[in-house]
Amino acid sequence: MQTSPTRLVPGPVARLASATVHEGGALDRSASPYRAAEAIDSQGYSWPSIGTKSRKEETDAEREARLEKMSGAIKTLLECVGEDPEREGVQKTPLRYAKAMMFFTQGYETNLRTIINDAVFEEDHDEMVIVKNIDIFSLCEHHLVPFVGKISIGYIPNKRVLGLSKLARIAEMFSRRLQVQERLTKQIATALQDILQPVGVAVTMEASHMCMVMRGVQKPGSSTVTSCMLGAFREDPKTREEFLRKYLQTLRRMVKAKKATSEAKQTHKK
Ligand SMILES: [Zn+2]
Repeated sequence: MQTSPTRLVPGPVARLASATVHEGGALDRSASPYRAAEAIDSQGYSWPSIGTKSRKEETDAEREARLEKMSGAIKTLLECVGEDPEREGVQKTPLRYAKAMMFFTQGYETNLRTIINDAVFEEDHDEMVIVKNIDIFSLCEHHLVPFVGKISIGYIPNKRVLGLSKLARIAEMFSRRLQVQERLTKQIATALQDILQPVGVAVTMEASHMCMVMRGVQKPGSSTVTSCMLGAFREDPKTREEFLRKYLQTLRRMVKAKKATSEAKQTHKK
């Protein structure tokens, strides 16, 4: 529970640029897969891509032009699959798709600093905090088709906690980009590490990839599990086990509930 939270002034992220070495040496960025880059760079972007800056700073007219360019590409795509782009049903699809694509990738424009603003609190709490089963909708960068699943985030605070809803916002921010599941998992963990400098961070993700499911490479229902453990979760097997046990408990409960529902349906059919 967060009682009488104290707002950290000035903005907590201002100090993050120098988050390479942690107080007391309890944490080591060498355990981080992103030690070469900070979660928030000097310009305020989080792992920007080549067009991030121009996308974030464009004018309305420039955005219109961008959508038009994208629409042209989708029209070509329709032609190439053998469709008639002038057919009523798909006539507006190019612009619709362009707008949808901008939404699916809006995480490029989201600023981590804005998300966590006013939500980092000093709190004398050092027990594991876990937010489980955050729904994730992302796009696989290899096929531009969705992968969907759930993320669970755990951390052990080091006198700083983050508003719980912000964990989901961070997960959403990085998932609304072109991704691979492994990188998505790592970016969420590393961002949290930089923001809170906690004793440890653990992120696990289970997702179903449409590029595998729809193309029949794997059976529908198959899923991919990734995890990223930093700090105590990486170094201390007991801490890691505690997290995984709590995480697995939920998974088991979910499987049980699913089984019960399908059994109930079966009985109902009889
Ligand atoms: Zn793919």
